[in-house]
Amino acid sequence: MKNTVTFGGISAAPGTRSTGWCPVPGTTQRLPVTVINGSGEGMSVLITSAIHGCEYPSIEAVFELAESLDPARVKGQIVFVNPVNVEGFLQRRPYIVPADGKNLNRLFPPDPEGTAGDRIAWVLTEEFMKKVDFHIDTHGGDIPETQPSYVYYPGISDFPEALRISEEAAGYVLHAKYRIRSRATNHAYTYSGILGIPSLELELGECTRWSREETDQYLENITNVLKYLKVLPGEPVRRKIPAKQITEGVYLDADCAGRWYPSVGRDDAVHAGEKIGEIRDFFGKTLKEYFAEYDGEVLMVVATLAVNEGDPIIAYGR
Ligand SMILES: [Zn+2]
Repeated sequence: MKNTVTFGGISAAPGTRSTGWCPVPGTTQRLPVTVINGSGEGMSVLITSAIHGCEYPSIEAVFELAESLDPARVKGQIVFVNPVNVEGFLQRRPYIVPADGKNLNRLFPPDPEGTAGDRIAWVLTEEFMKKVDFHIDTHGGDIPETQPSYVYYPGISDFPEALRISEEAAGYVLHAKYRIRSRATNHAYTYSGILGIPSLELELGECTRWSREETDQYLENITNVLKYLKVLPGEPVRRKIPAKQITEGVYLDADCAGRWYPSVGRDDAVHAGEKIGEIRDFFGKTLKEYFAEYDGEVLMVVATLAVNEGDPIIAYGR
């Protein structure tokens, strides 16, 4: 006999969809939640979007999926939190939670006594991530970022089975140029992996643009993973040619503010010792040059002329 389920205070009886707001204690923040409790038994899957508020193909796809899925087709539960960073979405602020200026995807494990971003991360962890069997977090290129499509999966955990399932699930992401085993520990999806919950982070779309085509590709990716998890009916399609594997990456942040001139583009390879970009001041002086440590593939290049100290500027991996 299937039971009513509750996530973040939002309850759904078997075969129904419920929506509502989950408060973030100690702040004015709250999280919009959709709970779809299927008619049959199965896994619980958390789908999050807009941890970064301007990565639109993912955000739109997750809105559409939460609104359209028929609970009668679902086995288990699918829980949607979107947009996680409500103010970042509404204020069109890349990377950060406007209330405290923190990058929410660097705040795990979270501090329950911290500022707004920390507390959002805490509620997301306690009320959602810890209560599910699988976590799909969705991103894309933020306002300044041009990048190919990829799927990240956690590479660090004391739960090897969670890592194995994450890696296998990554093979069911249909639209991805790369699949990247992450060594990070402070992202939402990598922290799910550390907790023993298999997870993926999907990245599709760039420079905050969104199109029907990218949104549909996102829906296809998520739906295929849900079929792999048997939460939705139908046979999942496994990619005939796997996405190219990346196991280590270099993520460079700007050492100073100024004008950013990358020497490589989003689909380029980089070669050891090659110059990959520079920052200049407002009078033509070069402030800082950047060179590749090893041969690899470009994973992200910032496309804006302006950069601030500490902003991401370029990433590459192999
Ligand atoms: Zn993001």
